[in-house]
Amino acid sequence: MENLARINGKTELVGLLATPIGHSLSPAMHNMAFDKLGLNCAYLAFEVGNEKLEDAVKGMRALNVKGFNVSMPNKMKILPYLDELADSAKFSGAVNTVVNIDGKFVGHSTDGMGYTRNLKEHGIDIKGKKMTLIGSGGAATPIAIQSALEGIAEISIFARDDAFFPQAEENVRIINEDMKHLNVKANVYPLENVERLRAEILTSDILANGTGVGMKPLEGLSVIQDESMLRPDLIVTDVVYIPRKSKLMEQAEAAGATAINGLGMMLWQGALAFELWTGQQMPVDYIKEQLF
Ligand code: NAD
Repeated sequence: MENLARINGKTELVGLLATPIGHSLSPAMHNMAFDKLGLNCAYLAFEVGNEKLEDAVKGMRALNVKGFNVSMPNKMKILPYLDELADSAKFSGAVNTVVNIDGKFVGHSTDGMGYTRNLKEHGIDIKGKKMTLIGSGGAATPIAIQSALEGIAEISIFARDDAFFPQAEENVRIINEDMKHLNVKANVYPLENVERLRAEILTSDILANGTGVGMKPLEGLSVIQDESMLRPDLIVTDVVYIPRKSKLMEQAEAAGATAINGLGMMLWQGALAFELWTGQQMPVDYIKEQLF
């Protein structure tokens, strides 16, 4: 009731354009935060796929919304409909947050920042570290780019032989060439090369799953064969947060490694988007208490 009473003629809209959308925690997270801080904003999710995306963005312009999130399958498709891109979005070619600055739609990617911020919350600084990263889609790409922007030393990307493999090659090219000044060494390998994967994990500080393997419809599956590929001083992270403990997280725990699921990344990508829209910090501890 409190929430409804808050909505009036001056309420500003923040949206989400994605499909499927019913499972998203973002509406609850942002509306709770608006409520808690007494901000006159409302966050609504809209079921929008690639075919309606251009019209939806035009609609958002016409309605002069405060901003919006973009999720699967729109993150890499929305770029042509925006006016400007922050570095996080420019290098990753993906946008998850759009901010309306006086009618100009500016795209950001807070997914990668959410990932590194969550590592920091766990006391982990990626500077100088080596990461083995699985995947090259809308989640894995910003993780690779942001890790490079924040000073990772080396990153080995493994991708399955599917439509995303050229994107893995492109991510490596961008890090080695376009971001050359950062001195990060990036490598790309086929995920099918299990022996190479084992060898790269062995010399890495972090193993990151950036794919949906472990989540429905791939629940119970893992990107690694077994826990003998892991070790106690390895940090294992997952973008998956439903279930909270994916197969990879179980394998990490069994090997005595540090296991970090995708929940923190999700929370922090939202907190960083919230800050971009409102200029205020999301009450993160309160949200964690309420939602997780
Ligand atoms: P996407 O479709 O853009 O990319 C999918 C990636 O997974 C590609 O690299 C693809 O090659 C790989 N892949 C798919 N099936 C595979 C398989 N069977 N074996 C190996 N690799 C496979 O999707 P996305 O936007 O990158 O999302 C991926 C996952 O990340 C989803 O589960 C999504 O919910 C999650 N995600 C989490 C957060 C978070 O904040 N924690 C943020 C974004 C996405």
